[in-house]
Amino acid sequence: MKPLINDFTLEELTNQITEMGEPAYRAKQIWQMVYRQLLASPSDFSNLSKDFRQKLEDQFCFQPLIVEKDLKSADEQTNKLLFRLQDGKMIESVLMRYRDRNTICISTQVGCPMNCAFCATGQMGFIRNLSAGEIVAQILFFARMLKSEGLKLTNIVVMGMGEPFHNYDAVMKAIDIINDSDGMNFGERRITISTVGLIPRIEQFTAAKRQINLAVSLHAPSNAVRDKIIPANKKYPLDSLLEACRNYTEKTGRRITFEYALIHGLNDNYENAVQLAKRLKGMLCHVNLIPLNSTKKYDGSGSNFDRTQSFKSVLDKNGIPCSVRLKRGIDIGAGCGQLLAEQNK
Ligand code: SAH
Repeated sequence: MKPLINDFTLEELTNQITEMGEPAYRAKQIWQMVYRQLLASPSDFSNLSKDFRQKLEDQFCFQPLIVEKDLKSADEQTNKLLFRLQDGKMIESVLMRYRDRNTICISTQVGCPMNCAFCATGQMGFIRNLSAGEIVAQILFFARMLKSEGLKLTNIVVMGMGEPFHNYDAVMKAIDIINDSDGMNFGERRITISTVGLIPRIEQFTAAKRQINLAVSLHAPSNAVRDKIIPANKKYPLDSLLEACRNYTEKTGRRITFEYALIHGLNDNYENAVQLAKRLKGMLCHVNLIPLNSTKKYDGSGSNFDRTQSFKSVLDKNGIPCSVRLKRGIDIGAGCGQLLAEQNK
């Protein structure tokens, strides 16, 4: 398999290009054509000689994602893409156009080792990590799609298939690549990474003092409840997890987001809400409440409107900032935790 062009930082690409016997400035030209002009292949690199374009084509892979399916929601605002990778494995990513925001949800692994009971990706098990370049390629794909519509990519959520903090280095490298000011210059503040709560990586992330937003999938106010749905809670129980989160907000001064999927009769009663409020009191945080999306291998169902509102009102009363998240793309199986569910039916 040819090396993937998007796996290189500018510095690494410069080494590659000089090793080909070309001047170093060519690397920057290529970088700008790929990341600034969003050109998809060497055949579009019109300021390079035909000969050199061919050499690039021969040496590197520029198209690691083959579109297997491109599903559009009924309102045409959401696309769910099924991509085939170079080794034949499949991933999904989602684009949501909403008012002045164009947000993509990208994958970091094929499958996921975390095995959360309610999540379709978790239900399929772990296959492999994505490389930095495969993560970058998803971003470029949508940036190009939006560009062709006269739109711009505004936000990235790293909440697709996989546990980003289980593939930490590749995820950070991908962000470094799209953040580069000679290229895409995509700001870290417009990126959110969601983790199930791998404490050592949260600590590493805290120390790195990056401007990327952090979200943690809490989904329960107690170990008793969390143990039932999130196996990782055995290794990283709630008290230690929340301590790491609190430490993150204090060390960085940045707000943390907690995700809480409301599951009827499991984690959505009055007591659960009171307990959650107690635990989060005084923390610089925001809670996103998301009624669970149903998945094939999990019996639980999402809380209805009334229960969702009652839960929210307890948090409101206790001064915990929270909102109920919009469901988008449900008709095409592009909701949280639904990625690749269709494929496996
Ligand atoms: N591994 C990361 C990213 C996973 S997906 C994490 O655990 O945070 C992003 C969010 O969708 C997580 O909060 C995850 O728990 C949630 N999620 C997964 N399946 C879901 C479902 N069926 N309904 C609602 N949210 C779900």
